[in-house]
Amino acid sequence: MSVSTVTKEQFKQFVSALVDSDQSVIGIQAKDDKFAFGELNNADDLRLDYDVSILPPKKYVLPQKETLLSFEVGGDSQTVQNTAPAVLIGVHPYDMIAINQMDELFRQGEYDSHYMNRRNNLTIIACDVVTPSKNVFASSMNTTTAESGFDIMLTDIGDAYVVEAATEKGEALVKQMPGAVEATPDAVSKRNAAREKNETALDQHKLDCKPAFLPKLLEKAYEHPIWEEKARLCYSCGSCNQVCPTCYCFDVQDEVEWDMKSGCRYRAWDGCLLQNFATVAGNHNFRQKRADRFRHRLYRKGKYVPGKIDGEIACVGCGRCITACTSKIANPVEIYNALMTETEIG
Ligand code: SF4
Ligand code: SF4
Repeated sequence: MSVSTVTKEQFKQFVSALVDSDQSVIGIQAKDDKFAFGELNNADDLRLDYDVSILPPKKYVLPQKETLLSFEVGGDSQTVQNTAPAVLIGVHPYDMIAINQMDELFRQGEYDSHYMNRRNNLTIIACDVVTPSKNVFASSMNTTTAESGFDIMLTDIGDAYVVEAATEKGEALVKQMPGAVEATPDAVSKRNAAREKNETALDQHKLDCKPAFLPKLLEKAYEHPIWEEKARLCYSCGSCNQVCPTCYCFDVQDEVEWDMKSGCRYRAWDGCLLQNFATVAGNHNFRQKRADRFRHRLYRKGKYVPGKIDGEIACVGCGRCITACTSKIANPVEIYNALMTETEIG
């Protein structure tokens, strides 16, 4: 596939034309002193120099609340599918890798058509990181660059972007970019230098082992006192789950209208740190203790999900949980490093 360059002004013209078209365009924008993904109404609002978004872009493939089917009480039901195309602009490589992991998880076993329809209708314009966020540790997790999942990857090289098209959809979009020309060797080497810099610059926390070692480390750490120690300060607020690009658990509920004739089934984000997450019929909660819930999150990231997706660690080092946790206990690196020094395997 092609590698081109466009000036920033030309790229803005391209985004303006997208915004004026009839498809939905979602872009990263400033929100007070932070950044958030939202419907883009003006190309000037796009901020590809952002550090990190408050919520990850996964909400466009797995929305916070989503209707799955509608039904008549005692009658028929119909699946509700979202097939509206959308363009998502500004996904960082670590968030792209998180979406790639979810693609794999929602494809395997029971194919999740609700997730996959949204995903297949989404065009992703990703971008390499320009400004490291205060808690990012993608350097440790090998997630500073992404190789797949996006249609286009942009790299800021000063007054222009290097534009790598990775799919047919991406190629078609590049053709719509005014003034796009084949990238010169100089532009490509500037892009490579920017990526090389990110390999070491996105490192606010340093993991003391290779990510691939985490499943083995956790095998020995189930009874470690760290889970109790940390969980003593845990509010069970679930913020670490809600901001995480790789958390994908949801709750399913039926809602009947006031007329008692019709209703809908929806799913909404859930979180394993919330007290009732593991409550089942009969009001039994198989992770009643805070320490059990706290441990479960770290095991999901470092052991259970990797077991489902070829050993890939389900923490991409975005650092959002570190920022979101009021108690300052959610940092995965701090926990894994402590286990490294205190377990016999470390
Ligand atoms: S954000 Fe912190 S306090 Fe809240 S559930 Fe997660 S670990 Fe506990
Ligand atoms: S566990 Fe924390 S740092 Fe890792 S992907 Fe989730 S929010 Fe980001």
